[in-house]
Amino acid sequence: MRAQVLTAAGRPLAATELPAPHPSPQQLLIAVRACAVCRTDLHIVDGELTDPKLPLVPGHEIIGTVVEKGESADRFRIGDRVGVPWLGWTCGICEYCRSGRENLCDRARFTGYQIDGGYAELTVADRRYCFAIDPSYGDVEAAPLMCAGLIGYRTLRMAGDARLIGIYGFGAAAHIVAQVARHQGRRIFAFTRPGDLPAQAFARSLGAEWAGGSDEAPPEPLDAALIFAPVGALVPASLAATKKGGTVVAGGIHMSDIPSFPYRILWEERGLRSVANLTRRDAEEFLALAPEAGVRTGTVTYPLDSANQALADLRGGTLQGAAVLVP
Ligand SMILES: [Zn+2]
Ligand SMILES: [Zn+2]
Repeated sequence: MRAQVLTAAGRPLAATELPAPHPSPQQLLIAVRACAVCRTDLHIVDGELTDPKLPLVPGHEIIGTVVEKGESADRFRIGDRVGVPWLGWTCGICEYCRSGRENLCDRARFTGYQIDGGYAELTVADRRYCFAIDPSYGDVEAAPLMCAGLIGYRTLRMAGDARLIGIYGFGAAAHIVAQVARHQGRRIFAFTRPGDLPAQAFARSLGAEWAGGSDEAPPEPLDAALIFAPVGALVPASLAATKKGGTVVAGGIHMSDIPSFPYRILWEERGLRSVANLTRRDAEEFLALAPEAGVRTGTVTYPLDSANQALADLRGGTLQGAAVLVP
């Protein structure tokens, strides 16, 4: 099968012919139809996340068709369409798994990081971490739901019942979260790179009431802020824009260092927290909610062989919506 392979951090992916993977008893063999490109893939390729298997097939926003099953793979049938997310395996016995927090599992393994992912024609995945996809979505359109959507949804959930939400960084996750938040009757302010007028117009088209640069003060203080850009300076900026008792949630897996800031912008019971990974419950909930909320995704497709170009465009910040690889 054709695959794009990372052999060392900091190197471009290499187009490689690999033997077809064989499903273990719990796994499905999946023909990849589409795989979205996540910012986490960039962090892996650039070496900011330091624990990948090597060589590695990246990609954890996979939509594909089941073509073969391991002998104990009791979920799904040959021909079913499934989505495969970042969370690829958990132990089921650690204190986190036993308390409904498998996203924090001590021994968790992640798709496209410790398990080969979807930048390929075929992949294998544990059937317990595969999900049915609503038929109203095409393969390409569904792919960004699998991480931008899922982790974005978990990030939004951590904002509790906040009504006025500020979203910092208006890329793939934000464009989905904004639609869910609007469906829930919340108000959205969008913060982009200063001067990024196309991104601000994109945010307004998805229901943001106000859009401006991340260096601007919003027209009214926020109930909660969600940060999707990997920029530590947004932490004090968003705290300063948030009301007493409000929450700032960082939705990314990696961020540049957070500059020091005066305690008074955290004081008055503002909260600051991060989101890590996802649980299977997040996936079930979000994948049911997305069609109900009428979530549509904006995508830019690339042939699998252009994976390096897709990563470069994501790094350059010129994409509106999500890059999706098609084998
Ligand atoms: Zn565990
Ligand atoms: Zn991701």
